Amino acid sequence: MGLLDHPTATQGGLKIVCEVCGGLSIKPIDPAEASDGAEVYCRRCNAVRGTIADLRALARQSTGDFEF
Ligand SMILES: [Zn+2]
Repeated sequence: MGLLDHPTATQGGLKIVCEVCGGLSIKPIDPAEASDGAEVYCRRCNAVRGTIADLRALARQSTGDFEF
């Protein structure tokens, strides 16, 4: 186990890849209703993947593969 085993995916709060099931999808969120502190859940296994604030920060940085 080296220190480089975990690349930038763990940076910030949002887990791009689910640690539990390895899935990429998250549950649909209504951005108008969700507050920044609300949690984002894995679409497959319901694990917490981060918060709305994390998701928004990520969306600003990338082209975004997330479904809202
Ligand atoms: Zn999952």
